[in-house]
Amino acid sequence: MAKLPPLPRLKKKLWKIFSEYIRRRDADENGMVKCFTCPKIMHWKESQAGHYIPQSIALSLVFHEKNVHAQCAGDNLYKRGNPTVYAIELQKRYGPGILEELQSMRQENFRYTRVDYDEMISVYKEKLNKIGWPDKSKPVYKDYVCTEKDDYPEDLE
Ligand SMILES: [Zn+2]
Repeated sequence: MAKLPPLPRLKKKLWKIFSEYIRRRDADENGMVKCFTCPKIMHWKESQAGHYIPQSIALSLVFHEKNVHAQCAGDNLYKRGNPTVYAIELQKRYGPGILEELQSMRQENFRYTRVDYDEMISVYKEKLNKIGWPDKSKPVYKDYVCTEKDDYPEDLE
C-alpha cells in the first residue's frame, strides 16, 4: 500500500493550486491583474493570493474564494493585507453583507481532513482547467507542482 502524504504537504499542494486559481481568476485575457487593494497592475505570476481574514485568525477561511484575491506583495506582506481597503473593495464586489458573511464562517478549532484536502485539490484542478486561459491544453499549474515528489504519487499532469 502506498504511503499516504502527510497533511501539511497536502495543504501545501492545495495552496499552490488554489493560489494559482485565484490569481488567474482575477487576471484579464493577457494575464494582467490589478491588485485588489491598490492601483498596481502586474502579471498574475508576480501577484500574490492575499487573504482578508488571515489564516492565523481563521483556518476555516484559508481556502474561501471570497476571502482571497490577487494582491501586490507590498499590500499582502508589508501592509498585512491592507485590511481597511480590502474591506471596502469586498463590499463593492460582493455587496454590503460580505463582511458579516465571512465573519460568520470563522470556526474555532477548525481542522481540514485528508478527505477535505483531496476533494479541494480535485475541485481546484478542475476549476483551473475550466478557466481556459491562456490555453486549456496547457494548464499553467504544472509550474507550481510541489517539488518533493517521492513520498506520494504525483497526479497533476
Ligand atoms: Zn497593491
